[in-house]
Formats: sequence, C-alpha cells, structure tokens
Amino acid sequence: MQFVLASHNKKKMAEMAAILGGLGIEVVPLPENAPEPEENGATFEENAMIKAKSAAAFTSLPAIADDSGLCVDALGGAPGIYSARYCEGTDRDRNTLLLKNMSDQEDRACRFVCAIACILPGGEALTVRGECEGELLRESHGEGGFGYDPLFYVPEYACTFGELPPETKNRISHRGRALRKLREELEARL
Ligand code: IMP
Repeated sequence: MQFVLASHNKKKMAEMAAILGGLGIEVVPLPENAPEPEENGATFEENAMIKAKSAAAFTSLPAIADDSGLCVDALGGAPGIYSARYCEGTDRDRNTLLLKNMSDQEDRACRFVCAIACILPGGEALTVRGECEGELLRESHGEGGFGYDPLFYVPEYACTFGELPPETKNRISHRGRALRKLREELEARL
C-alpha cells in the first residue's frame, strides 16, 4: 500500500521507508509540483496535519507528514515551531542567534519534538509525538547531523547529536520515537 510522504527530504524518506516498510507500506515522495501549504498552525501537530491533508488532497493517497523543532525551557519553548525560521540565513546563523539568546541563562534544558500526522486510507486522521530530552551547550560540538544538532547535548551518551553516528541518533531521536509510535498505530489499524 502506498503512502505519500509530504516532504522532498531524501533522508526522511529513507528513515520512514526503513521503519514502515515491514508493514507492507511503500513510502512515495510528494510530486515536485504539489502545492506548499502555509504552515500556520499553533502546534507541531497542527502544522504536520496541514501538510498531511494537503498531500493527501493533491495525490488522493494516504499521507504522512512531520513537523519538528527544538524547544528550550528558558526561552518559553522557543524556537519551537519556528525552529527552521528562527532567523534568515544558515543553520549556523540560527545556532549563533540561539546561543546569543541563551547567553545569560543557567537553565539549559531543552528537547527536540517531532509530531507526525497521518491520513489513513479510509480518511481517518491521527497524530503521534516523539520527544528527546537534552541540554543546550554553550558552543558547537561535532560536524554530523544538521540544524541544532551540534548544540544538543545528550547526557546519556555524553556527546551531542552532531557527534553521534546516524544509526544511534535515529534510534533515540524525537523523529525515530514518533515513527515507531506511528508504526504501532498503523499496525493496529491496517
Ligand atoms: P522540519 O520539521 O524537518 O522542517 O524541521 C524543522 C527545523 O527544526 C529544522 O530546520 C531544524 O532547525 C530543527 N530540527 C528538527 N529536527 C532536528 C534534528 O534532528 N536535528 C537538528 N535540528 C532539527
């Protein structure tokens, strides 16, 4: 059974395909000419659902979409749903801004959050959420990953997401956790 993934990101495709393939689900990419809906939801779940509904409407296929970001306690949950748009420029620029906004904060607790929305073949909609707790460092460590990974310290592994091998990151990450919850939900329904 085909599910369209509301993303053009090849790494996300591969991760989803690996986790959902065992259920007989084939994950197909969103066509290049699909419209990009405005992500004007107030939560990760709402934004994921906006993308899933748009992809399902465009392709007439069941659809999966995710929305994710970094929530920092001392900043009241920012950058949160605005993680990708925290400021103009590159990942490095956004990391620099985040470090500046956190420069006088002692509380470094933060978490990555991922919501996945799914429109099932019958039209039923569901969302799941995965989280991964960590601490925001005061400087970057590691060259791997993307986004805020080099600042995100995982005490259990005594290193940042930017220093972890991808397989380890995928196992403990917010996205990996949300995907495994989605697999459980789909196993129960399909
Ligand atoms: P998206 O939901 O994939 O568009 O991600 C939103 C933004 O959140 C990304 O552009 C990153 O800034 C941040 N983000 C989400 N997941 C991760 C992650 O696993 N590592 C680092 N940054 C992430």
